[in-house]
Amino acid sequence: MKKPYKHIFFDLDHTLWDFERNAEETKREMFDRFQLKDRGIESFDAFKEIYTGINLALWACYREDTIGKEELNFRRFYDTLCILGINDRNLGESMASAFIEGISAKTYLFPYAKEILEYLFPKYLIHIITNGFEEVQYSKLRNSGMDRYFSSVITSEAAGARKPDPEIFQYAMRKTGAMCDESIMIGDDLEVDIAGARLMGMDQMYVNHDQKQHSEPVTMEVFSLFEIMGLL
Ligand SMILES: [Mg+2]
Repeated sequence: MKKPYKHIFFDLDHTLWDFERNAEETKREMFDRFQLKDRGIESFDAFKEIYTGINLALWACYREDTIGKEELNFRRFYDTLCILGINDRNLGESMASAFIEGISAKTYLFPYAKEILEYLFPKYLIHIITNGFEEVQYSKLRNSGMDRYFSSVITSEAAGARKPDPEIFQYAMRKTGAMCDESIMIGDDLEVDIAGARLMGMDQMYVNHDQKQHSEPVTMEVFSLFEIMGLL
């Protein structure tokens, strides 16, 4: 039997909005635009390999609050350039702002993202809870034509806490007037979205796009957004 939810909370990145594809395309365009090959970096893949490791390490620092978002964004490019033999702060700064601007304009969504929102929209109040940067998340929603489906957008910056911290969920409940037992959190991250919602006593739907093996207890699990239509 379908539970009569009133509120649906979606994660954005890698749940609805195809972060990997959008980020990859942005970085490829930047590699050409900033003529990194002429600056001595042999290929986009060589750049990407270094960037990926640095970005992961910096995100871990950001989550532990040892660096802020500006430093994260600057250093993932500047540190990558330095390792590849280009010590150029100005270039690092230009790339950091080009990335934010470029990625916000990208619009690749996971298959059925729009269809599922169209399906849920008349039946529920739909919201976003995201750990992404405030200004970027609003642009992504607008540019990809998804903004009209969401009654509210809760960002970690506005809430002053990041998922899975219960504080961001409590903030979301206050802002939307939702109760945990009439809400479900839909997201792609077991530690962030699913564990966070579970801590609040809220039902969770794990969007397992990559078909990862796991043993987490989840209320529901789907491998494609399309499956949501049969569940909600
Ligand atoms: Mg996500």
